[in-house]
Amino acid sequence: MSRSIQIERSSRSQPCELCSGHEFDIVSRIDRRSDPLSTVACRSCGLVSHESIPSDADVEQYYAHDYRNDYHGEHTPSSHRILRAWEGAQWLLNLLRPYVRQGSRVFEVGAGIGFNVKSFEADGFQAEGIEPGQGFQKYSQDVLRANVKCLSLFDMSPTPQYDFILLVHVIEHFNSPKKALEHIRHLLRPDGRLYVECPNLAEPHAAPRKLFHYAHIYNFTPDTLVAMAEAAGFKTVARLTERHGKALRYVFEKSEPKCEVSSASYGNTIASLRRYNDFTYHARPRYLWQRLKRDVRFASNHILPTLRVHRILNRLQQTSGGGTAPSDTISAGSATYVRAT
Ligand SMILES: [Zn+2]
Repeated sequence: MSRSIQIERSSRSQPCELCSGHEFDIVSRIDRRSDPLSTVACRSCGLVSHESIPSDADVEQYYAHDYRNDYHGEHTPSSHRILRAWEGAQWLLNLLRPYVRQGSRVFEVGAGIGFNVKSFEADGFQAEGIEPGQGFQKYSQDVLRANVKCLSLFDMSPTPQYDFILLVHVIEHFNSPKKALEHIRHLLRPDGRLYVECPNLAEPHAAPRKLFHYAHIYNFTPDTLVAMAEAAGFKTVARLTERHGKALRYVFEKSEPKCEVSSASYGNTIASLRRYNDFTYHARPRYLWQRLKRDVRFASNHILPTLRVHRILNRLQQTSGGGTAPSDTISAGSATYVRAT
């Protein structure tokens, strides 16, 4: 059953970030709270974004003060969020270990409460990060003792100094993802790698009426994410997205910029948006199974969350060695790839 989205032509004058096209279709007029938010798809390349791209000043203001509260309803993390972040960080570390050189200098852009940085550090990597949200950055520094500074990406001088950069559920928040990726490219050493993870618009990750959000300025499909990375000077090393995965996961490395978008991209985008209505989305067996697993996990995380969090934090503080060292005292590591067998 298809979803009958109303598609109208947009009068947007800003060109497309990916293909510089000027023709857009409006694919939604509401955000996930049913507040007004116009979302468009580029008719040339299928890239989905807000109809009106916020300015740098708008974005800076939002992330410094409103984002964490607006997004999660909290300025400092709850026990439930801490547990989820810790489990997620451990899972991600295991996923990425085959692609990170031993002794690498790892850097996370948008480190949140700092568990990814701390997990890499505890695994022997030199890890640091930046997080523009003051509440979560303070938590990562004061509680986790992770090396996370309160900075934005463009505060970083464009010096090649990192071997592996993490961009986890961050690229969709930039008002110019291409500019952000180009800046990240300058921070990477010549053989450095970049991991990008973001919601997968091509697979259902939210009910049709809950897809769009002010903080997500761009919404990527596999076609548009890879094309955006290529336009910024990267090539794909590994696609780690699971089958029917709600998140896109790619490892990229530096290459020459090229602008090439699949001719099927626009059609794929529209087909994704039309695939489900609210009823068929919620009636999917996969949704019902995931909902059950989530409810069980939620219940278990709320039985003794304080005790579990206390145990995790104690363990991390015991492993803390170089976590609070200033970044300029960290030297470069060796460059041997460790691959999973
Ligand atoms: Zn386009």
